[in-house]
Amino acid sequence: MEIQVAAVGAENTNNKTMRELVERAIKYGFSHASLLDASTLTVRSEVRDMCRADKCQMYDKNWMCPPACNDLSDNASRVTEYKSGLIVQTTGILEDDFDYDSMMAANDRQQKLFASFRDELKAEYPKLLALGNGSCRICEACAYPDSPCRFPERAVSSMEAFGLVVSDVCTKNDLGYYYGPKTITYTGCFLLV
Ligand code: SF4
Repeated sequence: MEIQVAAVGAENTNNKTMRELVERAIKYGFSHASLLDASTLTVRSEVRDMCRADKCQMYDKNWMCPPACNDLSDNASRVTEYKSGLIVQTTGILEDDFDYDSMMAANDRQQKLFASFRDELKAEYPKLLALGNGSCRICEACAYPDSPCRFPERAVSSMEAFGLVVSDVCTKNDLGYYYGPKTITYTGCFLLV
């Protein structure tokens, strides 16, 4: 089960197109959306240390995850090519802290909405950089490491794999990250222009 709450930052910009994008993301089905000021993004090596700790058990198992994905210095340089974008979230409501089914349902919803919204935005913003949550799940089994990525144009790294601290990005863009007990929130972002 997901909850729809708010569009953040839409009222704080004079840029009509960007303001409309936040509202569009909410209408699309995301629980929360916010403008993203690219100058707030900091690529941090500590995030890669967390990936190496392999709590998600995806380290060295996917082309879009470390150590196979882009070098952090390339990522840091890449974000300087952008001024703004969009953060999108799906929040799921849990029966309790162990409600794995609802966690997976909210994760699936975020990944599906994120992929289809990305396809829409890509037609309008050719420079688009999409950063999702979790490892790339386009293929049932990733081709890593034996063969090249099967869909390099569609494959997506997570914000964490890119070197971003998700809570930090949300906070700096006036967006929540934790929506209370018995909720879980998945976050992704699009750098657009
Ligand atoms: S598109 Fe397929 S091969 Fe490429 S990173 Fe994603 S899961 Fe792996």
